[in-house]
Amino acid sequence: MSLLRQPLLLLARSSQVKRLVSTMPVSAGIVRGYVPGESTDAVVAATAALVDDGLTVTLDHLGEDTTDRAQAEATVAAYVEVLKALAARGLTRHAEVSVKLSAIGQFLPDDVAPEGGHRLALENARTICRAARNAGTSVTLDMEDHTTTDSTLAILRDLRKDFPETGAVLQAYLHRTEDDCRQLAYEGSRVRLCKGAYNEPESVAYQDRLEVDRSYVRCLKVLLAGQGYPMIATHDPRMVEIASSLASRFGRQPGSYEFQMLYGIRPEEQKRLAGEGETVRVYVPYGQEWYGYLMRRLAERPQNLSFFLTSLISKK
Ligand SMILES: Cc1cc2nc3c(=O)[nH]c(=O)nc-3n(C[C@H](O)[C@H](O)[C@H](O)COP(=O)(O)OP(=O)(O)OC[C@H]3O[C@@H](n4cnc5c(N)ncnc54)[C@H](O)[C@@H]3O)c2cc1C
Repeated sequence: MSLLRQPLLLLARSSQVKRLVSTMPVSAGIVRGYVPGESTDAVVAATAALVDDGLTVTLDHLGEDTTDRAQAEATVAAYVEVLKALAARGLTRHAEVSVKLSAIGQFLPDDVAPEGGHRLALENARTICRAARNAGTSVTLDMEDHTTTDSTLAILRDLRKDFPETGAVLQAYLHRTEDDCRQLAYEGSRVRLCKGAYNEPESVAYQDRLEVDRSYVRCLKVLLAGQGYPMIATHDPRMVEIASSLASRFGRQPGSYEFQMLYGIRPEEQKRLAGEGETVRVYVPYGQEWYGYLMRRLAERPQNLSFFLTSLISKK
């Protein structure tokens, strides 16, 4: 992994750094490269533009590690609002939503959520799944750091009893993930495979890029050979190539799996794959809480970090 990755992800947890970065005017330009807007209207317009380009979309209302109940409720309301807005524009055939359970209460302490954070997040997720179903689309549960994996997969299992279309995310950097892929490679099961974006200890995660890539390929094999619907989330040209050849080796037709990339990253590649008949879904984050998301993207790309720091210094 990049030498800068760990310190940057640690720095991202500092509230002073957060305040500084969030209020720097220069942030806006960098943020816009990764986040098309803060409002429902802005993100629905961005979705329509992507759909016009032959792409599909998953929307993420930014915010995580919620510590108060009102904020969790506001996040649920934001999802319900955006789902209605997508339906009103006739976009739900091409757009779904991605939800972080920590944003809807998964880790609220007992004095704030006497029913327990896990239960509250499940009920909130149900509300979003119902709104998605009514709008004609579905939900994917994002995966956060490894301390949340068991709780998130348990919530997924519960949700799938009523909303079997609900998607999961697995992270190839975790040692456990190949097994999790086996558990989830059943018919109708939508699974997004990504490398993983958090700063994880050696005890649970591969630290070396090559090992993560090898694990990614092993997981791809399990998912593509299985009965589910794999969602291949990576910008890595090698992983895209390997996934394409594994898909044909396992007799998968385009449309029985999809590629996913983040908004603003390799947009030409997104259009190229779509032009070849592949389903390509763009993950579009929106909202005011862009800080943690931006820091994870910068940690992945040291080139972006040096550009960002130079801009900050020159504006001082
Ligand atoms: C749709 C989607 C959803 C995701 N959801 C989650 C989630 O729920 N939980 C989670 O932990 N993580 C999630 N991630 C993030 C993911 O785990 C990785 O951190 C992130 O995608 C970087 O890994 P990578 O596979 O793209 O390749 P990397 O290993 O970061 O990069 C490999 C190669 O890809 C190319 N590349 C990468 N970035 C760029 C760029 N900016 N511009 C040009 N080329 C580039 C370069 O050739 C690079 O060498 C998601 C990612 C995507 C795409």
